Amino acid sequence: MTEAKDYQTSVFPTWCPGCGNFGIWAAVKKALSETGFKPHQTVGVFGIGCSGNGADFLKIYGFHTLHGRTLPVATGIKLANHKLNVFAMAGDGDAYGIGLSHLIHTARRNLNITLVAHNNQTYGLTTGQTSPTSDKGFLTKSTPEGAIELPVNPIALALSSGATFVSRGFAGDIKHLTSLIKEAFLHKGFALVDVLQPCVTFNKKNTYTWFRQRIIKLEEINHNQEDLNQAFNQAKLDEDQIPIGIFYRQNDLPTYEDQVAEISKIPLVEQPIDNVDISKLLSDFS
Ligand code: SF4
Repeated sequence: MTEAKDYQTSVFPTWCPGCGNFGIWAAVKKALSETGFKPHQTVGVFGIGCSGNGADFLKIYGFHTLHGRTLPVATGIKLANHKLNVFAMAGDGDAYGIGLSHLIHTARRNLNITLVAHNNQTYGLTTGQTSPTSDKGFLTKSTPEGAIELPVNPIALALSSGATFVSRGFAGDIKHLTSLIKEAFLHKGFALVDVLQPCVTFNKKNTYTWFRQRIIKLEEINHNQEDLNQAFNQAKLDEDQIPIGIFYRQNDLPTYEDQVAEISKIPLVEQPIDNVDISKLLSDFS
């Protein structure tokens, strides 16, 4: 039996005091301990952004990759050894900007991977520019007259891409967020946990108080998690009422790994290579 502290390294995060990253960090550790995935059975793939150095603060296998590329790296790891619990951690710029197409394709393939998106609606690491999820009219140094575009809607996007587990949490409600991440880790298929994460330094609009005044919990309004139409309905962007919880889940679809004959039974890393002859392949390069 592991405890949350068993997933913590001796390095304390360098995030700004009060940053929502702390709530997500706490929830991930707790979810790992409650699901029973041991540190050596878990891989976290981290992107670029303030959340990216999270690889240093979690005692699991970690991979700190390029901006926008967490899901392709997580896919490679999963296909090499699908016995591992594999998750990706990426900011909103990473997951919903440069890495947006990877989200769509990982969802439609139903790889058994969880994406935890630190959605703070700004580029915190580069000192607060408009991101793909910034609200229309959001004032930053890159948009001094307010963001012109409408924000990306990650929930609706994941639903329309075929994701089999779509959820949203709040970094200021660690207990609720822990339950979502735990469910996502245990889900058999692609899972999105979009996390509303206040950036206390560069986003002075979407604060803890701002969210608390607007958040409603789907489980408290009789939402049916298995009804796709209801999920789309709740996914509509509305600044006055922001649902959190599980929008949609579908438990009976095979994963991508299940459908690849070569690895469906034995992970690639466990397959014998003694009889594999690559001499012909090598001769093509000689
Ligand atoms: Fe957190 Fe924002 Fe500070 Fe980055 S800049 S560590 S997102 S509060």
